Amino acid sequence: MIKLHDLYFKPFISEDEVDTIVERMVNDIANDMQDEVPVFVGILNGSFMFVSDFVKKYPKPCEVTFIKLASYEGLKSSEDIHRLIGLTQDLSGRKVVILEDIIDSGNTLEEVNRIFENENVDELKIATLFYKPEAYKKDYKLHYIGKEIPNKFIVGYGLDYNGLGRDLPAIYQLKTIQYMTNLVLFGPPGAGKGTQA
Ligand code: 5GP
Ligand code: MG
Ligand code: MG
Repeated sequence: MIKLHDLYFKPFISEDEVDTIVERMVNDIANDMQDEVPVFVGILNGSFMFVSDFVKKYPKPCEVTFIKLASYEGLKSSEDIHRLIGLTQDLSGRKVVILEDIIDSGNTLEEVNRIFENENVDELKIATLFYKPEAYKKDYKLHYIGKEIPNKFIVGYGLDYNGLGRDLPAIYQLKTIQYMTNLVLFGPPGAGKGTQA
């Protein structure tokens, strides 16, 4: 068990299992791409470790880039309004695969889809390492899903709790009883502290 800030987390998905999941996703995507050279687009910050391991395993030529959806500062509705950092190259006519750490409500994915609508890409596919089906509120197709997980807060392998935990090589899950107590007392993790992708 580990403690990050005020919360306790228990081991949930081992480093080995994460590795197996990433390997399977690489194989599925490489098969589907055939002779195309895809552009993998990681969504920062959470996807950095996934993308790194993914492209190291990818068996054919590929390009990799990152974008970040940053909340506007000084706005009350900062959760809903984002600006884009990092999409500098021309992706028209390319096969683009978004690499996400986790899809929860789907709000971020909606934003990503909106951004790529104007890019004239040949094909946009979504790959997410983790997916919370109980939390997903959108209709966008998820082309590649690493693992479906329950609607509980996780950290590790790029995913943080208020800045901590991204560096952990395995996935940890919030201890629920304590989470419920904290939820009642203090609100959800990150509440009132702005959002971090
Ligand atoms: P969504 O927009 O789909 O609700 O969630 C997108 C972002 O919220 C993810 O990219 C991730 O940064 C964060 N997020 C969602 N669920 C979790 C979780 O269980 N743990 C952590 N650390 N972040 C999460
Ligand atoms: Mg993310
Ligand atoms: Mg975060």
